[in-house]
Amino acid sequence: MKTETARVINEEIIGELRNISGNDWVVSDMSQMESYLYDETELAVRPVAADGCVVVKPGTAEEVSGIVKLANEYKIPVVPRGGGTGLCGAAIPTKSSIVVSLERLNKLVEFDNKNIMITVEAGVTLEGLLEMLKEHDKLFFPVHPGDEGAQIGGMVVENAGGVRAVKHGIMRNHIKGVEVVLPTGELVTLGGKLIKNNMGYDLLHMMIGSEGTLGIVTKVTLKLYAKNPNIGTLLVSFNTTEEASDIVPKILQDGITPLAIEYMDREVALESAEHIGQAYPATEGSVDLMFILDEATEDELYEKCERIVGMCEENGAVDSLIAESTKEQRALLEIRSNVYTAYKENIADALDIAVPSGSVPDMLKDISAIAKKYNTISPAVGHIADGNVHNFLMLDNGEIPEYLDDMRNEMYDAAISYGGTVTAEHGTGKTRKRHMEQQYSAREIEIMQNIKKAFDPNGIFNPGTIVD
Ligand SMILES: Cc1cc2nc3c(=O)[nH]c(=O)nc-3n(C[C@H](O)[C@H](O)[C@H](O)COP(=O)(O)OP(=O)(O)OC[C@H]3O[C@@H](n4cnc5c(N)ncnc54)[C@H](O)[C@@H]3O)c2cc1C
Repeated sequence: MKTETARVINEEIIGELRNISGNDWVVSDMSQMESYLYDETELAVRPVAADGCVVVKPGTAEEVSGIVKLANEYKIPVVPRGGGTGLCGAAIPTKSSIVVSLERLNKLVEFDNKNIMITVEAGVTLEGLLEMLKEHDKLFFPVHPGDEGAQIGGMVVENAGGVRAVKHGIMRNHIKGVEVVLPTGELVTLGGKLIKNNMGYDLLHMMIGSEGTLGIVTKVTLKLYAKNPNIGTLLVSFNTTEEASDIVPKILQDGITPLAIEYMDREVALESAEHIGQAYPATEGSVDLMFILDEATEDELYEKCERIVGMCEENGAVDSLIAESTKEQRALLEIRSNVYTAYKENIADALDIAVPSGSVPDMLKDISAIAKKYNTISPAVGHIADGNVHNFLMLDNGEIPEYLDDMRNEMYDAAISYGGTVTAEHGTGKTRKRHMEQQYSAREIEIMQNIKKAFDPNGIFNPGTIVD
């Protein structure tokens, strides 16, 4: 029996979609649609049955506009889809929906040498962007979440962060303009190439982090930066989390701003190394800091590495190693990048808490104590200089533990008590929407609901995400 929602997308609607995007780019076959119904949170959010959806792959922004106008006319939910690498269930349709996959909008629009900016279509993947930038080897784009399958549009609306935020910040800091199809179907450009613009409210920055609830991004203009050619990776081991986290502000105060400062509980690092068949180089201590530095000259790089090691040793570091060759550096980064995939099968959730960075040691102590209360552990990895730590909540004998919700709520309350947030970079999506009241007042949520209504009067864009 078909669901009630399945009738919303009938043959007539599918026919109209085929008229807009062409026969080959409308997928209504259930087996082919299945992979468009999940993101990397997988089973945390149940998608609507595939027969309630249709997937469209438009080739131009005008086609996107046509699809959205049709959806708005019939009040059919629309779920934009990027690379499907999201970690908050935002791309998962939970109602009968038109899933708009941006994969064919994958072209370079303009490389602007004078303004040091690049404009790409929203479906260009991070891997694709890095490939495009190979032609301009003196320039780089700094934001790098762990999965290069993420699309630039997805990174815009998730306001992605990643390991390099210490030095370069997050997506929001580098997006200068976007072209967007609004939920009522109009194609607009927000921002452009300005460095400064104080005219009116900032709609560009409303779109950043909006998780497909306020519009479909079709084009993005990003700021690029001069590349520092000398890159080094440093792994420093400590016996305690306190020693490791205490040293981070001291290094920054000393005028050293690494590209990345990553924290890893040793058990997490070992699990990841084993998962990808590598040996983990550190044996002393129980927690590690991984520093990635990029400097103008080799001398500067070595001088800063030595200063970091010296300061860490004064703060109790028990071991350190410098990865000098590109191969060694890549091996270490791969261990860090594969932490999530190594744990994926064994976790009920991966938290994305952030607190002001000075509160990280206290917050991690609280999280451990809460986990202990429930007779479990919560290994941690994260972007420690940003105060953003990912704690894993483990499955219990392969099952979601009964205490999961209670324990997670206590952990969120602990983070919020330090002035923290439930999610620093992975997003609210559908998995964290129910925690909005934990972090925000009723009035704040009401304002967000009104913003949503102003953009999307019929409430068709990505229902069940962020706010209703
Ligand atoms: C191994 C791994 C490591 C990761 N590491 C990090 C990390 O370090 N930092 C970090 O911030 N994130 C990280 N992520 C999360 C993820 O990569 C980011 O959230 C990314 O921005 C999602 O992009 P996507 O194209 O895959 O979006 P999707 O998952 O496809 O979609 C995410 C949301 O964006 C919407 N959307 C997608 N494209 C558009 C568009 N063009 N217009 C409007 N809405 C759109 C969707 O509707 C959905 O709501 C990681 C994920 C994995 C699997």
